[in-house]
Amino acid sequence: MTMLTQTESEIWDAFLKEMQERCSKAEYQNWLAPIHLAPGKEGELTLQVPNIFVQEYFLQNYRKNLPNIPITFVLAEQKTAPAPVFAEAPSETSTLKLNAHYTFDHFIEGPSNQFVKSAAIGVATHPGRSYNPLFIHGGVGLGKTHLLHAIGHYVHAHNKKLKIQCITTEEFINDIVDHLKSKSVDRLKRYYRSLDVLLVDDIQFLQNRLNFEEEFCSTFEALIHQNKQIVITSDKPPSQLKLSERLIARMEWGLVAHIGPPDLETRVAILQHKAEMKGLRVPSKVAFFIAEHIFNNVRQLEGAINRLSAFARHLNQDVSEEIVENTLGELFQHAPDKKVSVENILKCVATLFEVRESDITGTSRAKQVALPRQVAMYLAKELVSDSLMRLASSFGGKTHSTLLHAWKKIRNQLEKDETLKKQVQMARRNLES
Ligand code: ADP
Ligand code: MG
Repeated sequence: MTMLTQTESEIWDAFLKEMQERCSKAEYQNWLAPIHLAPGKEGELTLQVPNIFVQEYFLQNYRKNLPNIPITFVLAEQKTAPAPVFAEAPSETSTLKLNAHYTFDHFIEGPSNQFVKSAAIGVATHPGRSYNPLFIHGGVGLGKTHLLHAIGHYVHAHNKKLKIQCITTEEFINDIVDHLKSKSVDRLKRYYRSLDVLLVDDIQFLQNRLNFEEEFCSTFEALIHQNKQIVITSDKPPSQLKLSERLIARMEWGLVAHIGPPDLETRVAILQHKAEMKGLRVPSKVAFFIAEHIFNNVRQLEGAINRLSAFARHLNQDVSEEIVENTLGELFQHAPDKKVSVENILKCVATLFEVRESDITGTSRAKQVALPRQVAMYLAKELVSDSLMRLASSFGGKTHSTLLHAWKKIRNQLEKDETLKKQVQMARRNLES
């Protein structure tokens, strides 16, 4: 063994300095501060790590910042001193952390989430005895965490004796790391294995964390074998997660339930519910208007309500469609081409279907004018960025629900009717070019 050369410690210090600037304090404390440069061979870095997790994390995340130098690791000697008493398992220090609003009562049901909600209620009423595990997957902001906490609330309210832990995958990993540091992993393992209900959020973060995955998998098996309830959420179904086949198979043992984006009516109901909770009165016309524009993320709907509420309070006004357009413009997802106007659409559709523009804006229900009228309304909603109300009124003073109805009808028909599809495509190309 030689003494450390200047160069090696220089390299290491420079690296740490750079990382200190780049990483968050927590990350640095967790993953870099515990590593020490140790005496070793010349021309390579010998790093002393407290455990294999830190080593693995280092290799995956920081190795690339130290190119051109070989690295060897040595494990720090295990101290024989007893584990410090302050290292308590979560059971002793923390109570169940659940968002107070995330209850079943506050979860609005619709076709996209009915199934998963009833599965969640099933699990909450008979933990360990209905579906085990329950695996909930779906895109961001669709209510996965909400349902997970709702299960926690329900079990807690109905059976105070049951031991529940609700944890994110990140927290699970940090927990293990902390207990490794204080040499109390066994206690942590005992704690997890003593739970009655384990709720784990965002399991996708377990991907590429090999050692943690093994630990999770064995906790999982231990609990399932005792009929203890496990609920897991994820942004993907188990089969699409980059996890071991063994863990994927385990997660598919019970019920895999998908939660999809809510339809318009459900979005309106969620919006009104959230508004009501904030003491904000939102006319249903306005609720529809917002829900039509924000369609694939409930969290954004909520953001819209929060902004509106601040704005309305500030102006001391009721929420009108105008306020909505002014406050929420940039939240709206469709920003359709502004160049297209209803006038253009009327002209284009009239030519295409060989009817007069006045037929389209008129009231005749004859089939040869009703279809072009609906197509024009469909195109208006798709291509013109204006409120449904104003669009509808440019069709000879129709109502927004007539327009919405026409839009839905054509949208459905487009899936079945090839001729219509070609006609609409042609009109679109014409209008957009
Ligand atoms: P995810 O975990 O799927 O990303 P969250 O559970 O955090 O989504 O939900 C995002 C926000 O949307 C939360 O405030 C939640 O209360 C709300 N939310 C989602 N779905 C519903 C629903 N069906 N009813 C009421 N609120 C919902
Ligand atoms: Mg979530």
